[in-house]
Amino acid sequence: MQVYFIGAGPGDPELITVKGQKLIAAADVIIYAGSLVNPELFSQVRPGVEIYNSATMNLEEVMDVMLSSVRQGKVVARVHTGDPSIYGAIREQMDILEKHGVPYEVVPGVSSFLAAAASLKKEYTLPGVSQTVILTRVEGRTPVPEKERLISLAEHQATLCIFLSVHSLKEIVEDLKTAYPEDTPVAVVYKASWPEEKIIQGTLSTIAKQVEEEGISKTALVLVGRFLGDEYDLSKLYDANFSHGYRSAEK
Ligand code: SAH
Repeated sequence: MQVYFIGAGPGDPELITVKGQKLIAAADVIIYAGSLVNPELFSQVRPGVEIYNSATMNLEEVMDVMLSSVRQGKVVARVHTGDPSIYGAIREQMDILEKHGVPYEVVPGVSSFLAAAASLKKEYTLPGVSQTVILTRVEGRTPVPEKERLISLAEHQATLCIFLSVHSLKEIVEDLKTAYPEDTPVAVVYKASWPEEKIIQGTLSTIAKQVEEEGISKTALVLVGRFLGDEYDLSKLYDANFSHGYRSAEK
């Protein structure tokens, strides 16, 4: 049988895709990334389903479960938080499956940075402000390539979504201040779409203290840029004086 890598979405169990939900309901074996995947997603599963929390397992153990289950003709749902292509450590698993000739599919999910924009009711790509979104992290146990240091990325003054890094907010702010003005808006979104979600909004000068006072040190995104402000150009797409493939300009 086969393995399905499924994006679980950011937390709210209704933010998984219909396809992902159906596959979870039909799976014989579920392996989920324990710390961030909402267990409510597993309220409707097959009787006798085997459920593993990968938080306490290493890669070899996860792969052993997958490979032996598939050999027994079982369907495996490997459930990752948000979308598995973003800091999902999914590639190494897919490569091992390839090596063993095990068929697999990937079902995308709603990444937390998208849920955060929805909670903030903001658009990352405002005309006249920024047309580029950079998803990044600062170095932790996983190194970040030299060319992608925050100081270099900051030069673009693009919209920044920083994952896995809220514990280093002070250092982040210092790096960003080398390029962004101090009054650049920053939002920290903790557990977007979960009932315990928190949104902290400030600027590069204020945010580190605000977040420290809230005691947030994990499961949060740091979002930076003037997209959080209120100045922007109107879109060309809906501009009455601008024609495109589906609509001609008004005279
Ligand atoms: N694949 C995931 C990211 C996994 S890395 C995705 O697409 O969202 C884990 C990091 O993602 C966390 O440290 C945090 O920065 C962010 N994250 C995951 N879920 C979140 C949520 N609901 N709210 C805010 N940040 C979240």
